[in-house]
This record gives sequence, C-alpha cells and structure tokens, in this order.
Amino acid sequence: MTQPGSPCLSSDPANPVSALEARLLVDTFRGIDLGAVWLDEDARIVLANEHFAGWVGSDAAALAGRPLAELVADFNGTRWAEIAHAADGDGAPPRLTLTAPGAPARVLEVRAQRVAHDGRALVALLLVPIPDRVEAEAIDGLQREVLESIALGRPLRSVLDLLCRRVESLSPGVACSVLLIEKNGTVTPIAGPSLPPAYVDALHGEPIGPRAGSCGTAAWRREPVEVTDIATDPLWADYRALLPLLDMAACWSTPVIASNGEVVATFALYYRRPGAAPPFDRRMVEACVPLCRVALQHEANRSEIERLAYFDPLTGLPNRRLFSDRARQTLQMAVRVQAPGALLLFDIDRFKTTNDSLGHGAGDEVLRETAKRLQAEIGDSATVARLGGDEFAAMLPRCSPVEAMHAAERLREALAAPLRIAGMQIEVSCSIGIALFPQDGSELEGLVKNAEMAMYEVKRGGRGASRFFTSMMNDVVAQRMQMESALRQALAARGLALQYQPKMLLDGSGCAGVEALARWNDPVLGDVPPDRFIALAEECGLIGAIDAWVLETACAQLAAWQRDDVPVPSISVNVSPLRFHSDDVPAHVKRLLQRHGLKPGALMLEVTERVMLGDDERTRVDLRTLNDMGVRLSVDDFGTGYSSLGYLKRLPVSELKLDKSFVSDLEREASDRALADAVIGIGQALGLEVVAEGVETPGQREFLARAGCRIAQGFLWTRALPADELVAWLERERGGWSSRRLTAITGGGGTRGSGRPG
Ligand code: C2E
Ligand code: MG
Ligand code: MG
Repeated sequence: MTQPGSPCLSSDPANPVSALEARLLVDTFRGIDLGAVWLDEDARIVLANEHFAGWVGSDAAALAGRPLAELVADFNGTRWAEIAHAADGDGAPPRLTLTAPGAPARVLEVRAQRVAHDGRALVALLLVPIPDRVEAEAIDGLQREVLESIALGRPLRSVLDLLCRRVESLSPGVACSVLLIEKNGTVTPIAGPSLPPAYVDALHGEPIGPRAGSCGTAAWRREPVEVTDIATDPLWADYRALLPLLDMAACWSTPVIASNGEVVATFALYYRRPGAAPPFDRRMVEACVPLCRVALQHEANRSEIERLAYFDPLTGLPNRRLFSDRARQTLQMAVRVQAPGALLLFDIDRFKTTNDSLGHGAGDEVLRETAKRLQAEIGDSATVARLGGDEFAAMLPRCSPVEAMHAAERLREALAAPLRIAGMQIEVSCSIGIALFPQDGSELEGLVKNAEMAMYEVKRGGRGASRFFTSMMNDVVAQRMQMESALRQALAARGLALQYQPKMLLDGSGCAGVEALARWNDPVLGDVPPDRFIALAEECGLIGAIDAWVLETACAQLAAWQRDDVPVPSISVNVSPLRFHSDDVPAHVKRLLQRHGLKPGALMLEVTERVMLGDDERTRVDLRTLNDMGVRLSVDDFGTGYSSLGYLKRLPVSELKLDKSFVSDLEREASDRALADAVIGIGQALGLEVVAEGVETPGQREFLARAGCRIAQGFLWTRALPADELVAWLERERGGWSSRRLTAITGGGGTRGSGRPG
C-alpha cells in the first residue's frame, strides 16, 4: 500500500534518519483527519494519502497519475493559480470542496508547499477540513458586522456594500451583487463592489421578466435562479452582449421578499467558472438574504420617518420644515448666481367659514384639492409647501417681478375653478402676497414676513388678489401688465404700424433700400418707442407674432412699390433672436416671397449679434437656409454686443450695421472715429457692406464716405416715414440723384453671403 511520503522520504533506505522520519509521518498521518496530496506541474497526482483517497471514494494506489480536476469539482485553473500563489507564501489559503457519491460535501482549507523530489518540482497540499463550526462562526461574524452597521444607521448603500465585501472575502473568487427591484418592475443596482462598473451601469433600469438573466428572472419568478453557464443558458440570451463587460461564467440569484410579499431586491453570487455554487456559499446566501431584507426594511422605515418629519400628511406637500431648508438653498443660490426670484404666500379666503359650516372633512378636502392644484400648476420647477392651516407657499427661483405676478394670477385662476365637495359646489379664492428676493430680503424669515404683510394687505383690501410687498413694485408691475394687455390688443386690432427709413448711397446716387421699423401709438399710452415695446413683447411671448406681422406687412409694401415703380430696390426687416428659437423663419419667408412675387435678394433680415453668437444649432441652420434661398442677412447694432468676430467667417452675412452710438460722436471723439474706421475696414476685408446708422450731420456723412462706407441712414436724410410719405419724399429727392444709381445699388461688395445682389 502506498503511504504518504513513503516513496518520497524513504527513497534513500541507507539513510536511517529519513527512514525514521518516514515511519513517524506515516503513523502520524494515519491518525489525523488530514488529506495530503502531491501534485506535479500539470496538477496530476503523484501521491495521495488514505484520507484523501477515502474522501474522494477511491483507493490511494489508484489515484497516482490522475488529474486533480477529475476528483475535485471546484478545482480549476484559477484555483491552481491560487494554490501556486499560496505555495509561494502569497495570499489567503484557498479552499476546495470535495464531494464523494453519497457523502456530505467537505470544505477543505489548502496549505501548499513546493517540494522537490528526484529532480521534479512538486507541490504538496495539506488539506485541512474546515469544521462546520468554523464556517458557522464565519457566517455569524458576517451577520454581526452587517447588523451592527444597520443599527448604526449607515446608509443602505454602504451596508449592502459591506455585506458583499464580507461574502467575497469568505468565499474567494466570488463576486456579489444586490439589485433593488423598483415598483415599476425595473432593477437598480445598489451594491456590486467587485463587478465591473460598466456592467453594473448597464443593468440600471433593465426590466425584470421570465428571461431576464439570473436576477431579473429570480425577481420575476420569486424564487432562486441558478444559472451554471451564462454563456449557454437561455435565460441570459438577451444579455449576452453584456458578457464581454462581465467576465463571469455562472450566476446564482436569490430574491429578497419583504414582509408584505413584495420582491424588493435580489442577492446574487457570480462565479468565474461554469458550475454550481459550493455548499458553503449556499449556507452564506441563506444567511445573507435575511440580512438584505432587514437592511431594506430599515431603510423603508427611515424614509417613512423622514416623510413624516418633512411632509404634510394631509396634502403630501413639503411642510414648513422642508420648505425652510429648500427655500434657504434657493436664496443662497439666488445670491450666488445673482438671479432674483419670488416667494409667494397664499392664504385661502374665509377658510374658517368653510370649516365651520361644512365640517372638518370638507375643510380637509378643500386643503387637499388646493394643494393638488398648486402643485399641478407650479410643477417640479419650484417648491410648493403647506406651511400650516390654510397657508401655502411657493418659492420661485429665477423669476422677474412680472413673471411672479403672472404666476400668482395663474395660480389664483387654477384655484378659482369650482370644487364639488359633499354634493355641494364650493368656490375657493385666495389672497397672495409676493416678496422678491434678494431685494425684499435675502434671509428667509424676513422674506416670509414681508410676503405675509403683502398678503394681509390683500385681505384688508377685500381678498382674492395678489400684491407685492413694496408699493412701488405694485405700480411698476401694474403698469407693465397694463402695457402688455394694450400691446396684445394693438396686435389683434391692427394698432401697430410700419414706417420706413431709407438707406442712402453716400455717393449721392440714390436709395439702396429701406428699413422697416415698427410703430405703436396706443390710444391711452400714446407713442410707445419700439425699444420698449419690442423688449416687452420679447418678455411676454408676443414677439413672434409681432415680427411675423412686420415681415408680412413689409413684403406686401415692397411688392406694392415694385408694382408702382417706386425706386425702393430692397427692404430690411428686423427679426428678434427669440423668433428664430420658436418659429420656422425660412418657411415663413419662403411663403411670403412666393405670395408677393418678390425676389429673395430684395429682402434683408437684420439680426443682432446675439443671434449669430447663440449656440442654438437650429438658428444656425435657419440662417444658412435663408442664405441658400438668396435672402440676405445683416448684423444689426454691430460692435455693441460681443467681441467675438469668428461668426463672420462661419455665417453667411452680407451686411454690417455700424451702430449709431459710434456715429453720433464721430466729429468729437477720436476713439469713435477709430472704431468706425475699424468696422468699415472689417467690412471691406471680408467683402461685407457696412451701413452706418443714425447719421445726423453732413460732417458725419463726409467722414464715413471718406472712410469707405457706401451706405448710411439717418435723420440727415429723413426719419422713418409712413409708406405714402416715404413715396412723396423719394419723389422730391429723386431729382438730385446722380446717374450712377443703378450700378451702385445692385453691384459692389456687399453680397458675399448670398451671392445674389438685390
Ligand atoms: P435698429 O434696428 O437699430 O433701428 C435703428 C433705429 O435708429 C431706429 O429706432 C431708427 O428710428 C433710429 N434712427 C435712425 N436714424 C437715426 C438718427 O439719425 N438719429 C437717431 N438718434 N436715431 C436714428 P427705432 O425705430 O426707435 O427702433 C429702435 C429699435 O427697435 C430698432 O433698432 C430695432 O432694434 C427695434 N425694432 C424696431 N422695429 C422692429 C421690428 O419690427 N422688429 C424687431 N424685432 N425690432 C424692431
Ligand atoms: Mg435694424
Ligand atoms: Mg441698429
């Protein structure tokens, strides 16, 4: 019979010490529950002792030459590498699991040692059975540690992370994960410290289902799912694309079912080699799944407590405490980024009467409905809260006084819709106080007090309205709102008009075109300058309609002039940047040109540098489309806005309008002369027409002409005039024009962009 060590240690029978050692070792081994195996470099057995042979259900003599992998299910390349490591004194002792037919599985800790025999390098393995008790202690330790971390209130993520790491350290080579199962049936990975992050990310939001990998299927079936070979198992068919990210071969997942019967998570072990999970891992999972359940339940309790602490149980809105937290953050942010906002404070009018006459149930219903409507109207952009009783608040970040008033009015309207409660129709109105930040206070307490004062002011004045804290703001906003509604009426009732200012050729040869300028004369407000009403229209969303009307009217006018042979070769129309964001300008222009039979080159659109420099891709596409159609583009107020000129290279511009602020002081300021010169130089260098605006004196005209500017407009010739007056003016002026007119208008340098002179 082969005895461990005997061939090796007694190979030199002449050496009595070796023989004695061999004898002793053989006897000693026989009495101790210890396996011993010597392996060659291919992990084939050279020699094994009786214990080992017994554990694998074989005879020791029959084992020589057999690969260890045939006898030990979880022995593979990875284990062999771990054993080699251990033999070199590195790493934790690896473990092997032995299963003989009909016998319980045996977990063995491996002590490895390199030995040489007859010139061969062998690895000696001492296999020490790990008694169940040791395993149980390890699992106990894990449970203790995780429970302690739950009890200490550590965040769920770090509790589960700890759990995974402990499992991985008890079962080397395993990777562990926990996925939360959301109410909508998708998964959210919460722990998976040793899995590749790209794989974990890819799982986010994946739905559970009957064929959704190991975890998704386990959650779906509500039972453990053990996939012993991910590469071939049909449950993983839809996830094969993830395999290159994963680098794992087997995955065993167990659902975590909460006390209410819901599947709330899955707990999974991944293995690098195909195969079933070893018994020790099974015992660990039995212990870990309840731990996951406890951790998740603890988290649910914590968030419920938090909900009770921060939310109003009747309406579900944030309560005063949460509102204060959030409002303070909003205030800090507003100060930091210098973006003002508004605090709105609501109080339901005569709520006490409703409560007293209809009962508290009805009162509660009014509060709930009010909360619902406020929340729906405000959306997620701001915090709405119930501060207590019938008092609600909303914090609106980045909001102008006019927008705050609009919001307040919208909210009052939303609340005004009748309510049906207990078979009765109730009308709810509320009083709103508005405080602006930071101007009415940058500390929350002061701001709330000021909004309250404004609200009480409303109550004193008869309820059912909104007011600002400062009376000046009330006046300013009231004026603005009056103007806005007048402008709406003007737009609807043809109260706007267009005037036309000629663009004159500086060589005296005539009119190069006209600029259409909007005019508004209101019966009450009188003449409102375009700078004011255009800015207002941009703020209140009317600009698209106004600019569309201007374009339409200007095209119709130009067509009429062309029919009547009035010498106006082209028309320039101002277009607000906002219109490019919201409307299909090229399509509108195309329709108008067709309808009025105009050549595209007869239309010039004036846009400010804001438009050119914006990062809106759609605007850039629109500008190019317009240019491709043959419509020309002009940069209005050139030089007043931005210092970047790069867009001149990229965008199809034909004309620069030298702003009148540079022109007005040409005769006095050397710096303005230098700037005007520079702009004209840029135009010449890039082949763009430069049109000077606001020319009022012959001196300005002379300077510009000398500097090489070809076209100008200004009071020196005339202000903008109504269409019929312009015709009369042209009629009068025409006699003085030189014969170079036609070439001057249609030829020359200003058409690089479109390539089609008007
Ligand atoms: P803008 O496009 O730069 O128009 C030139 C402004 O200079 C016009 O002012 C014109 O009346 C004024 N102007 C012309 N010659 C002289 C002069 O010799 N001296 C002085 N001091 N001013 C002169 P207006 O008509 O008040 O328009 C102001 C601005 O309002 C325009 O500046 C334009 O930005 C905007 N605007 C006017 N009409 C429209 C429109 O239909 N749509 C859009 N989006 N904006 C318009
Ligand atoms: Mg203009
Ligand atoms: Mg201008």
